[in-house]
Amino acid sequence: MQSLVTNLDEMRRLAAERAASFAALREALEFDESLTDDALDSLVESIAEPIVAAIDCKQCANCCRSLDVCLIPPDIDRLSAGLRIPIEDVITLYADEDLGRVHGEWAVIPAHPCPLLSGNLCSIYAHRPHACRVYPQFTPDFRYNMDDTIEGASHCPIIYNVLTALVERIKAQPPDDL
Ligand code: SF4
Ligand code: SF4
Repeated sequence: MQSLVTNLDEMRRLAAERAASFAALREALEFDESLTDDALDSLVESIAEPIVAAIDCKQCANCCRSLDVCLIPPDIDRLSAGLRIPIEDVITLYADEDLGRVHGEWAVIPAHPCPLLSGNLCSIYAHRPHACRVYPQFTPDFRYNMDDTIEGASHCPIIYNVLTALVERIKAQPPDDL
């Protein structure tokens, strides 16, 4: 595995420098019929697995500091249980439905950093929203979500390192040979 970039300033600088190579990756994969959607997802997951294991999110928390958290209705029950406050208060305090509509979602937690972040840790970890549980999500359908994934390379070290490794892998072993 390549040496991993975890410093956020360095990640942002390198993500900007590599924007063209990430865009070229997207173009190369977008219509490549030699690599099926499932095969591409498997390749991405095989690259992501050791990177996810090696990066300590407790040392980072940048997603909790910098991204809107999309909410789905079941999150409200979870947050109510975790915060021990009524559902109505969760909605009033944490669920911005107008901004959610802008994102095409039911609601979002609009504040940055997330008001539920304590230091680098989630204060309601066991009850965190679904979006927080799955982030960063590469599959299924990596091919069809590459724009969002590439955008995430300047926010999340896991995404940056996975995309960098994928670029190197595709360069070294083009899809027809996979
Ligand atoms: S709810 Fe917890 S995991 Fe989700 S963004 Fe807020 S602090 Fe982070
Ligand atoms: S998911 Fe990414 S941005 Fe969030 S804490 Fe982990 S490495 Fe940092």
